[in-house]
Amino acid sequence: MTEITPHFTLQEMTTTDYEEFKTSIVKIANKNKEKLEKLCWHLEAIRAIIGSPLAITSAIRSKELNSAIKGSKTSQHLVVEAADFIPTKKSAIMAFSEIVKSGYPFGQLILEKRGIGYLIHFGVGEKRQTLFSKEAGKYEPYDVSKVGA
Ligand SMILES: [Zn+2]
Repeated sequence: MTEITPHFTLQEMTTTDYEEFKTSIVKIANKNKEKLEKLCWHLEAIRAIIGSPLAITSAIRSKELNSAIKGSKTSQHLVVEAADFIPTKKSAIMAFSEIVKSGYPFGQLILEKRGIGYLIHFGVGEKRQTLFSKEAGKYEPYDVSKVGA
């Protein structure tokens, strides 16, 4: 396990269900060490805000992987600026609301429906755009005040 920050490893930041793309993803990670470390420090901050470990489901993506999973062509995953995760000790909806209310900076925070559950997409930036996604590639504005969490 190669630790990047105290709670995040290279292995989880390069995780994918598509083994055929793993090598290219690890290459991208090695070429972008500084950006990867920054992204992991953001995830450390989010982990602290919500008080729950994060299970990373997808972080760095190669172009090929992104097409295979129908990701956005301008996805921040392609430039080592985004991670998808599921909080392991808290509902994703609750965690989403807490991140928004904390005032922590993000480019995009997306609540994505996946199967029976949800995951959170965090993208580096300052815009603080909040979105909801019912299926891959489809997004609508998401008003966190309506959640009531
Ligand atoms: Zn994402």
